[in-house]
Amino acid sequence: MASSLNRELGELIAAKLASGALPSTVPTSIIRSMGAGLRCSACDVSIGLDQIETECTFADGQWLRLHLECFREWRQQRAP
Ligand SMILES: [Zn+2]
Repeated sequence: MASSLNRELGELIAAKLASGALPSTVPTSIIRSMGAGLRCSACDVSIGLDQIETECTFADGQWLRLHLECFREWRQQRAP
C-alpha cells in the first residue's frame, strides 16, 4: 500500500515538473519546521501540525512548501 502511494506521489511530482508547476532548479535555502496546516506545493494536501514541513526558496523569489516526503521525491526527480 505504501509503495503504491509512493508511486502515485512520484507520478504527480513528475507531471508537475514536466508542466513547470514545480521548479527543477536548486533552492537557495531550505528550512524545516513543523507543519502549520498549509497546503503542500507538490501533493496539494495540507501539511499537518504533527508533520515536518520543508520550505524551499529560490533565487528568483519563488518558494515551495512541501511535506518532507514530497521534498525527497521532488529532489530525487529534479536531480537524477
Ligand atoms: Zn505533499
